[in-house]
Amino acid sequence: MKSVWRQVLSRILIGFIVSIALGFLSGQIFLFLFLYTLYLLYCQFYQLFRFHSWLRFSGRSAPPESSGIWGEVFNNVHRLQKKQRKTKKRMQKALSRIEKSTSALKEGVIMADNTGRLEWWNQSATDMLGLMKTVDRGQFITNIVRAPEFFRYFSQKRFADALIISSPIKEGIYLEIQTTLYSQNDHLIFIRDVTRLHSLEQMRKDFVANASHELRTPLTVIKGYLETLSLFQDSLPQAMQKGVANMSEQSARMEQLIEDLLLLSRLESQEEAEQEEWHTIKDFVHSITNAAKVVMTENHQFDIHIEDDDSLYGSYSQLYSAFSNLIFNAIKYSPAGGTITIKWKSTPISGIFCVADQGIGIDPRYIPRLTERFFRVDKGRGPSTGGTGLGLAIVKHALLNHDGKLIITSEPNEGSKFSCHFPENRVKSNELLKNENHEEKQK
Ligand code: ADP
Repeated sequence: MKSVWRQVLSRILIGFIVSIALGFLSGQIFLFLFLYTLYLLYCQFYQLFRFHSWLRFSGRSAPPESSGIWGEVFNNVHRLQKKQRKTKKRMQKALSRIEKSTSALKEGVIMADNTGRLEWWNQSATDMLGLMKTVDRGQFITNIVRAPEFFRYFSQKRFADALIISSPIKEGIYLEIQTTLYSQNDHLIFIRDVTRLHSLEQMRKDFVANASHELRTPLTVIKGYLETLSLFQDSLPQAMQKGVANMSEQSARMEQLIEDLLLLSRLESQEEAEQEEWHTIKDFVHSITNAAKVVMTENHQFDIHIEDDDSLYGSYSQLYSAFSNLIFNAIKYSPAGGTITIKWKSTPISGIFCVADQGIGIDPRYIPRLTERFFRVDKGRGPSTGGTGLGLAIVKHALLNHDGKLIITSEPNEGSKFSCHFPENRVKSNELLKNENHEEKQK
């Protein structure tokens, strides 16, 4: 490059010297200099014009013949263009390969920007959601999938867990939606047809619910006869007396098991939406601890820290079941005389109901499994504590129905803490509630 510049500059310099010499000889130095400058300008414009015309017609043909610095410019631009065309072809090939492979996928894949506007999707997504390439590009996904649970899932960015919804275009089809954020919070959405899994799960739920329901009647009959037999306990032979007592105990356990299974089915299916209202936390705690005191055989203490002015929005029966399971567990798994602390804490973004005990505690490795049905840390402990193994599963489902979650912390022999976290829209201080009601009445 340096040599080209040297060549160009020396040519211009020679041109100037010749013009000055000719001007000197003719006595018209400025005229010759002016003419030479005009000539230089003309040359540059002429090359610029050729360059522009060549580019205008896409620059695909060979560049115009030229020497010097313009020749270098033409060749370099031509080389860059060839390189760019090659890269473009390579990228187009890769893109079409990606498109072909994603359209072969059974799962639907959608790319949406950070606001949820559709940018790209594969064939399966088209089939599952009925998307149309020409119309739907740029549309908000919440305008296409209109299920309220999807709107909540997407707008509140609850992407930690997959969501199952019924297909917006085909009845009886269930879709699982999983979303990942990438780059600048853009959305990558995977959709899977889970109809078979869903119907299997539904069959399981129906079976448990129906079986529990059917067991209720024979059990009531058996319990009735056992109660009658207990009335004549003293006149029964010694061996029978023990048997009847044992049968009564086990039938009570079985009844509790059936009730818990039915409650769990109701919590899971949520077919009839339960009435939701504001309830004060104190109400729950008072009635649960009063019920507990009646049946408590060992001398446990309650340490209650709840402000009068806190309320929770939800179904009374579900929340009662959740809180009572936690409080009764704390009693069951604490030694006599142990203190059970019950606290309510509301922050601007959440409300936390917390039950802590000083009992036997739980090995942390079992904590993730505690909310599974029938899971017990100590398998042999169930019958002696009278538990069904369904208590924490009930707590989990009741909280899920209230957009809440259960957090468990525990150490063996140091006690356990079960905290129920509720979102801010379900939590209110009584003072706020009174003010709002007052304002509403005034309107
Ligand atoms: P169960 O009817 O057996 O109490 P749950 O579902 O209520 O069933 O609890 C599951 C298991 O979690 C219990 O069997 C017990 O091992 C453990 N667990 C629950 N609460 C406590 C607690 N407060 N302290 C220690 N272990 C607990």
